[in-house]
Amino acid sequence: MSGPPALFLDRDGNLIRDHHHTCREDQIELIPGVKEALRACLREGYLLFILTNQSGINRGIFTWEQYEACNRRMLELLDLPSPGILEIKAAPERPDEPSLYRKPSPRFILEKIAQYGIDPARSWMTGDRISDWEAGFNAGIRSGAMRSGAARPEDLLQAAQQGFAIHADFPEFVRAELGLKF
Ligand SMILES: [Mg+2]
Repeated sequence: MSGPPALFLDRDGNLIRDHHHTCREDQIELIPGVKEALRACLREGYLLFILTNQSGINRGIFTWEQYEACNRRMLELLDLPSPGILEIKAAPERPDEPSLYRKPSPRFILEKIAQYGIDPARSWMTGDRISDWEAGFNAGIRSGAMRSGAARPEDLLQAAQQGFAIHADFPEFVRAELGLKF
């Protein structure tokens, strides 16, 4: 028997608006339709995880406390039914620092697949940057590229060449790739 499917979700530019090093609670704004899309995924049995690169922490732009406050505000706005988002993993390292979990590392995804018995064939990583799509690719799951964040035209061209699914935003992805109505 295969295990449950999962969605590994980038935060900024995928679930909430990307303000470039988003670090204040009053900057937290859900991308329209994301709340309803995530509820549809939960009804369908998808396990939900967030995997976010937050180099602003180690760059000294904001603190862990500010980052956590932003997550709390996002979760409050999402107001998801149980089990909601199962885990949120942040990689605080700068790109020039060694890191186990900074995307495109597949480590977090692989750990959760093993821990929850997730079916990789029905699981996805979605986000707005190359590092998101490559994390999914590196973990052996599918990747969805969202145009709702910081993706540059050349990034999207590369995503298309690599066969990643490209969509306007996460709600469109959920309708088109997962076939869910909401
Ligand atoms: Mg992003």
